[in-house]
Amino acid sequence: MASFQPDCSAYELLTVIGQGLEDLMTVNLARYKPTGEHVAIRRIALESCTNEMVAFLQGELLVSKLFHHPSILPYRSIFIAQNELWIINPFMAYGSARDLISSHFMDGMSELAIAYILLGVLKALEYIHHMGYVHRSVKASHVLIAADGQVCMSGLRSIFSLIRHGQRAKVVHDFPPYSVKVLPWLSPEVLQQGYDFPLGTSKSLGITACELGSNGHVPLLQRQARHGRLREAFEKRKKNERGEKFGDEKRMDLFCLGLLVDLCVSYRGRKFMDVLLAEMLLEKLNGTVPCLLDSTTIPPEELSMKPSRSGADSGICEGGPGACGARHSNGDPSTASSSAGGHPYSRTLSPQFHAFVELCLQREPEKRPSATTLIGHPFFKQIKRRASEALPELFRPLTPITSFDGPQAQGSTAGGLSGLESGLGHLEVDDWDF
Ligand code: ATP
Repeated sequence: MASFQPDCSAYELLTVIGQGLEDLMTVNLARYKPTGEHVAIRRIALESCTNEMVAFLQGELLVSKLFHHPSILPYRSIFIAQNELWIINPFMAYGSARDLISSHFMDGMSELAIAYILLGVLKALEYIHHMGYVHRSVKASHVLIAADGQVCMSGLRSIFSLIRHGQRAKVVHDFPPYSVKVLPWLSPEVLQQGYDFPLGTSKSLGITACELGSNGHVPLLQRQARHGRLREAFEKRKKNERGEKFGDEKRMDLFCLGLLVDLCVSYRGRKFMDVLLAEMLLEKLNGTVPCLLDSTTIPPEELSMKPSRSGADSGICEGGPGACGARHSNGDPSTASSSAGGHPYSRTLSPQFHAFVELCLQREPEKRPSATTLIGHPFFKQIKRRASEALPELFRPLTPITSFDGPQAQGSTAGGLSGLESGLGHLEVDDWDF
């Protein structure tokens, strides 16, 4: 690992490229003065962190020292400067996969590019599982892409060791803290506080695949949701499920109620979002199966509607993929076309991609394949080259940010740094249509 000085005066802070950790963390693009190299600095205001948060961060730093893999974002230096924790990472010039789909591939990223990205994620997960950990925060904003096309997983903060008293635990009863934003990606069993290794991660991978394949839409996180549906979902579950699925209905009610209270407490002033998140959780616990959104899963009459009126925004296909319409792709990824000016989901994704997502999103955790098995899935047969050779080509005409003149970088078809920032607000209440 190249050594970077643990001294803040060795870095020139340029511009803010991201935020996280409940807005306690700012991500800056910076120049490392001794070499001129560009880096990303994650700065965390320690004064605003609770003791519990600091302990949580210490866990991340420990893990970062243990992990060395080309598909995991490396930590170049970690130190404290002016009451802030500074974490120096390489600057990933394409930003996150989430940034890419929310700023540049609004009508869909090519399926081949998605395959490269998901393969990179699987390689990272395979390594993490091999090391005896689970990631617990797999989502497109934690998948970063370097200028040379290298795909790296970040989000090490939520990583959790499965080794307890020298033994690998099969189930971990622990919910990732400070992770309200990641709830839509978690599997039902995680939400029920039992974490099945390594299968829960595959479920998050399936949701991430939907996010990438469905133009950034996160399943079950509806924009058109109404508050009344929260009550409906509660009632439906009470009437129909009778605790059969969850074993102990009382525990589930208490859990959901507790979660709702947690959401309200941790997101004071953002109650609408709280309710929508709680609603999403209930939908998930009720067994609703998300799927990729395309011409095979959205009824033709919906595809002819204006996108804002289409129920496709729900991301829910009750009967599973294929139930809402016949699939008519020939399986050639090149046929997956973007909808120029039409409905954003009118393209047709390959049956292999649908099959991959179905495998990851199976309700029963024991049926979900491990990362190693998924790497051999037919969906990845289309990959013929290294990501570093293929991805920059597939992203064209988009180019990574390489010019950093002035306080706001210019000259990149990536839309400059504003492009990197724009993905962050996608969960904000203002963006939602009530
Ligand atoms: P969350 O609140 O979702 O948990 P987080 O605290 O994990 O977020 P990150 O996802 O690590 O925060 O960073 C937030 C965003 O900052 C990323 O999605 C990405 O847009 C940007 N970012 C972070 N690290 C880098 C990097 N090394 N290079 C380029 N952009 C980065």
